[in-house]
Amino acid sequence: MELIDTHCHLTFDGLAGDIEAVIARSKGAGVTGWVTVGTDPDQNRKAVELADRFENMYAAVAVHPHDAKTVTADTLKELRELAQHTKVVAIGETGLDYHYNYSQHEDQRRLFAGQLTIAKELYLPVIVHCREAFDETMEILGRHGRGVKGVVFHCFSGSTEQAKVVLDEGFYISFTGVVTFKNAEVSREAVKVVPVERLMLETDCPYMSPEPMRKQKINEPALMVHTARFAAELKEMELADFSQDITTTSKGFFGLP
Ligand SMILES: [Zn+2]
Ligand SMILES: [Zn+2]
Repeated sequence: MELIDTHCHLTFDGLAGDIEAVIARSKGAGVTGWVTVGTDPDQNRKAVELADRFENMYAAVAVHPHDAKTVTADTLKELRELAQHTKVVAIGETGLDYHYNYSQHEDQRRLFAGQLTIAKELYLPVIVHCREAFDETMEILGRHGRGVKGVVFHCFSGSTEQAKVVLDEGFYISFTGVVTFKNAEVSREAVKVVPVERLMLETDCPYMSPEPMRKQKINEPALMVHTARFAAELKEMELADFSQDITTTSKGFFGLP
């Protein structure tokens, strides 16, 4: 079995200090590729450095909507340069978070549009973070996302109807271990309507360990096999077939060998 954790934060506390062991456990579990995602200038640099150290590890770079208020023209200039590194396979995570509202909506919208422009210029796919801002996210993608190589809604927590809207646009959908949670019936219904050609999995670690490992405080890529097993059952597929299909999808989306 070969799976790719398409969205993890391996440079974050709890994982970075123990990275060799984290990667060894991941490989042992069959999760043999990783896209580690940066969230601010410092984490972006670290993500690229880490990806440089490991085979089959790639980086995505962007400033998270939480930090939109800190962004200047220089931040975007630096991001644009870093994004041209050979191990950078996506711009992300970028989008809108109207749940926490750590930055003003106006700043978040401006940053999202700016990072979509960079993705277009460099012909890179985009990892979208969208929380309680679905309509506006779609609207900004409609206005600034035309010509982007690809779009994935990461940690998708929307309804079946929203999943269909995303799919109709030709976008992809990625699920975390949240689909294994007891109260996540809406997410499970969404999994069922996303074809494997558009479906990816991720841990979003160090957050949100899947069942039955939910008590493990620090999530890690190895635990994605639990989410894969669970999702395969929802799709009424054999785990091996499901894994192969979504790995093909993930490689195609990010342009991985
Ligand atoms: Zn996110
Ligand atoms: Zn994330």
